[in-house]
Amino acid sequence: MRLLRNTFLLFFAITSCGLRAQSEQCGAHQILASQYSPEEIKTLHQKNTENLKNWQLENQNFIKNRSVVTLPVVVHVVWHEEEENISDDQIYSQIDILNKDFRAMNCQVPTVEDPFKSLVADMEVEFCLAQIAPDGSPTTGITRTRSPIPFFDCNSDFLYKEDLGGADAWDTDRYINIWVAKLGPVVGGSTLGCGTFTYSRDSARQGITINYWAFGNVGPVIKPNHLGRTATHEMGHFFNLQHVFSNGNEPEPCADDPDGIPDTPTQNRTYAQRCPNETQFSCGTQDMYMNYMNYTADGCMAMFTKGQKAVVWATLNVLRPELLQSNVCIATPQTDDFEYTIAPNPASDFFTLKKGATTTHRSGTLRILDTSGKVVFELWDARVNSPISIQDLQSGFYFVEFSCGNLRSISKLVKI
Ligand SMILES: [Zn+2]
Repeated sequence: MRLLRNTFLLFFAITSCGLRAQSEQCGAHQILASQYSPEEIKTLHQKNTENLKNWQLENQNFIKNRSVVTLPVVVHVVWHEEEENISDDQIYSQIDILNKDFRAMNCQVPTVEDPFKSLVADMEVEFCLAQIAPDGSPTTGITRTRSPIPFFDCNSDFLYKEDLGGADAWDTDRYINIWVAKLGPVVGGSTLGCGTFTYSRDSARQGITINYWAFGNVGPVIKPNHLGRTATHEMGHFFNLQHVFSNGNEPEPCADDPDGIPDTPTQNRTYAQRCPNETQFSCGTQDMYMNYMNYTADGCMAMFTKGQKAVVWATLNVLRPELLQSNVCIATPQTDDFEYTIAPNPASDFFTLKKGATTTHRSGTLRILDTSGKVVFELWDARVNSPISIQDLQSGFYFVEFSCGNLRSISKLVKI
């Protein structure tokens, strides 16, 4: 009977993902919809919001004065085809991105538009891969499971149960569980990920789930979901952040404060997979399309707000307090080291960017300048270890400039 129900769910997910690929890029609310009626969700959400607001009112000094916390993560890679068994390097890149996004250290922060610059929040939350497993043994913080199931959806027991071919969660009070798998039958065109709110019913599934081609910024990632922002968005849901729009379909209604957070303006667009190149307005105010809780393309997401930070810290203290006490990993401090080399050099057809051992930034803007200083090539979302074609350049000397916000590295290149 159980198998029959799961098969039905799988079939349902296939058809619904195929039909609504764009508008359902985040499955967080689908999980709730499978567990509660719309009225129940509304009531749960209201109660939750009230709880968190009360805590914020009573703990305003705490929010201003606490120190950075590091939260332990375990990544469960559940794979069927070899490509889905992503590399350790791809996993490390995602942890780095989560840290940079949650500490407001990412390359896109300087691009935040003026009225919102003062709202950019350093969430003072960092993540690290667990070094101690639930049974006390040493671990890399990564599990790998080969599954007979070719693809999953966010609601699939097959993904979350070891006896059905998936991976069981580690103690969800002590670890943030991240499942990485193929979601939906189509690579590049289905649900990107999902995260569980604290009021999701099944405690064994608390965590986030990300499509393998939208995880991190190295390996088989696909534009425009290639910079690891799906996990940042879903982690936002895990800490009870709502979308800044109201229902995920355009045009959105100009609802009254859909996320319950005063410093995120109401907007009537989701910006799904888009990268606006100029200021946007809707619902009588300027749109914060660069907020992580939008559907915007990865390259144009840049910030959480101070109001969102207050919700995250309230959630951690009121509803996920054990995570604050969990001591199963060692933090690696975020650094501004920014050292890169290029190889091969001299090069004829292509080169790749290599990062220094203590450098953590893996993406940024790459420009090639000739000896007169003229820009002859520019790629705003270049990544380390990805080949850059220089077949069209004439032979000679060039400068390769790689930058992230105010950080900059320059190398000499000989094209032969
Ligand atoms: Zn979402």
